[in-house]
Amino acid sequence: MTALVYLEQTDGAVDEPSLQAATMASSLGGGAEVHAVVAADTAALAPAGPLPVDAVQVAVHEAFGSYAPLAVAEAVVELAGRLGATCVVGPGTERGNEVLAHVAALLDLPLAANCVAVADADARVTRVRWGGSLLEEARVDAPTLLLTVQPHAVAAEPGAGDPPSVETFTPTLSDAALALRVVERVGAATGGVSLADARVVVSGGRGAGSEEGFAPIEELAELLEAAVGCSRAVTMAGWRPHTDQVGQTGTKIAPEIYIACGISGATQHMAGCKGAKRILAINADREAPILQSADYAVIGDLHEVVPAISAAIRAARSG
Ligand SMILES: Cc1cc2nc3c(=O)[nH]c(=O)nc-3n(C[C@H](O)[C@H](O)[C@H](O)COP(=O)(O)OP(=O)(O)OC[C@H]3O[C@@H](n4cnc5c(N)ncnc54)[C@H](O)[C@@H]3O)c2cc1C
Repeated sequence: MTALVYLEQTDGAVDEPSLQAATMASSLGGGAEVHAVVAADTAALAPAGPLPVDAVQVAVHEAFGSYAPLAVAEAVVELAGRLGATCVVGPGTERGNEVLAHVAALLDLPLAANCVAVADADARVTRVRWGGSLLEEARVDAPTLLLTVQPHAVAAEPGAGDPPSVETFTPTLSDAALALRVVERVGAATGGVSLADARVVVSGGRGAGSEEGFAPIEELAELLEAAVGCSRAVTMAGWRPHTDQVGQTGTKIAPEIYIACGISGATQHMAGCKGAKRILAINADREAPILQSADYAVIGDLHEVVPAISAAIRAARSG
């Protein structure tokens, strides 16, 4: 059996979720040969040091100077074919899942995303579904097993012994693949506090009413040195950028306290904030589902309640 694992890198260092994916790949079957592939615009970005794989192939192409998911997928498919890989593994990050989804589409095969365990004898996988609310066991019926590994499902193990051999190759890429790439990066206006790491998050939902309706939420966040979050209803309305979205298809947060203003508490939203130690819900509706998960609640109009909290904090600080 030959496994191929796609590794993501940042500045030449393999990312933690990719190391975890490589660790799971190396545990597949006794004696499976594990190759890794990284995509880079220069061979100088080959990963150095020990890795839990037998060999590393660097797909070198100028297209890989920025994120180009279909191009990476074409390189992975080319190498998998050359190696005769029976299993292709990637990290279960947003980008890892996107690249492997392209690989699956190119090979016309199913992809098991976000796996936490694999019994390789009969291609049985256990994977996270529904925003982490359930685990699914499935058997993948395909000549090549394609999967991504849920971040933190396995501990990354550094490879033992000598670093793997490193080779480079120039993949053949289609025009369509070259057209799909990141051309510009715009920094998120987070006010210096990262949503994923914030100790306090003040979030607004549809109840905020408009883009301007976030002014009191931003004011409270500033007072508490908190990050501002929001629900998908808000990003869909264009009131806030997607980078602010908390939830299954947004950022997963784990603050000391999550202040949810005008958010109903849909399952997909709660999937992103269930790591919060405490939840304070501010909602006009005492029947809102979020109240079932909240530790504290204020029933009222957020446009009155949130400014009142800010005023009380200011008064307490000046007194
Ligand atoms: C595949 C999929 C993925 C999804 N991923 C996400 C995700 O990542 N994140 C996410 O958030 N959603 C996600 N959703 C959408 C989710 O199902 C809900 O539609 C969304 O979370 C609702 O947003 P909301 O709570 O802001 O709006 P609503 O459900 O409309 O709730 C608004 C709340 O505001 C309250 N309210 C109204 N006016 C006021 C006021 N003046 N003061 C106080 N309270 C007020 C109301 O009582 C209500 O509880 C996803 C859905 C799908 C199908």
